[in-house]
Amino acid sequence: MRVLVLGAGVVGVTAAYYLQKDGHEVTVIDRQDGAGLETSFANGGQISPSQAYPWAAPEVPFLMLKWLGRNDAPLLYRMRLDPKLWIWSLRFLANCTPGNFMTNTVKNLRLSLQSRSLLPAIRQETGIEYDCLEKGILQIYRDQKELDKAAKFNDELAKLGCEHEVLDKAGVHALEPAYDSSPDKIIGGIYTSIDESGDAHKFSQGLAKYCADQGVTFRYGETVQAINKDGSKITSVTTDKDTYTADTYVMSMGSYSPLFLRPLGIKAPIQPVKGYSVTVPTAGHNGAPTISLTDNDHKLVFSRIGERMRVAGTAEFNGYDTEMNDQRAGSIRDTAQKLFPNAGDFSKAELWTGLRPMTPDGVPIIGKTPYDNLIMNTGHGTLGWTMCASSGQLTADLVAGREPTIDISDIGLERF
Ligand SMILES: Cc1cc2nc3c(=O)[nH]c(=O)nc-3n(C[C@H](O)[C@H](O)[C@H](O)COP(=O)(O)OP(=O)(O)OC[C@H]3O[C@@H](n4cnc5c(N)ncnc54)[C@H](O)[C@@H]3O)c2cc1C
Repeated sequence: MRVLVLGAGVVGVTAAYYLQKDGHEVTVIDRQDGAGLETSFANGGQISPSQAYPWAAPEVPFLMLKWLGRNDAPLLYRMRLDPKLWIWSLRFLANCTPGNFMTNTVKNLRLSLQSRSLLPAIRQETGIEYDCLEKGILQIYRDQKELDKAAKFNDELAKLGCEHEVLDKAGVHALEPAYDSSPDKIIGGIYTSIDESGDAHKFSQGLAKYCADQGVTFRYGETVQAINKDGSKITSVTTDKDTYTADTYVMSMGSYSPLFLRPLGIKAPIQPVKGYSVTVPTAGHNGAPTISLTDNDHKLVFSRIGERMRVAGTAEFNGYDTEMNDQRAGSIRDTAQKLFPNAGDFSKAELWTGLRPMTPDGVPIIGKTPYDNLIMNTGHGTLGWTMCASSGQLTADLVAGREPTIDISDIGLERF
């Protein structure tokens, strides 16, 4: 079958990988000059089944009110005259109930655990290097009550297959020596050995190269302009350079997906949510974390990516604006420097921003569409790197008409 994948982010490239394994003739289109150059470029690096919960959580409406109007708030909501954003926001709030939060966590955990279990086979088959660290993730706490609350929640995740270990201060120091030279006053942590970390950009580039060697065609530097239809079939895709036909089309254009789905009559509630990261060179320094960390107080994640420390976080609802806000990115850098002053050369820190493709329930959209030959694999929000492998595998299952390897009945467009 001829399959056209729209988007060469980590999600589109991984789908292309599984599709070529099934023997299809695969073409991938992306407007950038290579794979993984937009949201998949400098994310937090965490492969985190342990944190597969959505942002729409019971405490979030309260936090949003608390942060309202603060320019340095971890979540910045810029009010716009955009009914789609308002409807999205109401749906987001509706998903903040304890029941919906748990339902959505279970869906994400299912995808994340499968994804995590598929990664070793990809590494083994392709030999790609992406500064992968199979050392788990450590969530750190400075307040006993918060740690106890988190331990209780993690007990629920353990019942679903995501084991954890609660550590006291000494346990954290034993696991992460970077805290020995940090002024940070931590009291304990939760360690999940199942998690990993790595560079999603390097992974995308490496996997795309492997796929190209296997016969996948990559059309870089081409901007999709329209998806054309006839009745219940997609007939072609027009770019600024050419028109492409295929038997099946896969939508993996991240935050930009809804712009091309709307003219087809498909409403996919995906909002771009801007985040920032800071990458600090660590060569010659010995105070950077050696494993991936989640700091819930500062709403930041840390990943050790080779001789670099990546720090990522913050959320900003501001449409498709990708401008660098020095204040927001700078505050991530300053916090990281305060916590780990000997981590690296902060004067050479690289600042980056990207748009998370967010659904209101925090679960991606994977499944069929009203068009016989258009498959959705998009809307991965905060977890696209974590879920790329299962999403690609499931996309290949759908294209092949196979029974999906895990239940996908509740993660398609129908739920909206
Ligand atoms: C600050 C930050 C930290 C994050 N941390 C983590 C983390 O630690 N772990 C995790 O799992 N996830 C994390 N994420 C989320 C993760 O990065 C995303 O979910 C993931 O990158 C989405 O991948 P994608 O392929 O769907 O989108 P993208 O990477 O954006 O790919 C979409 C592709 O479509 C292409 N495209 C768009 N429009 C067009 C067009 N008109 N024509 C042609 N091509 C087009 C783009 O060029 C792009 O390459 C983070 C995100 C941010 C912003």
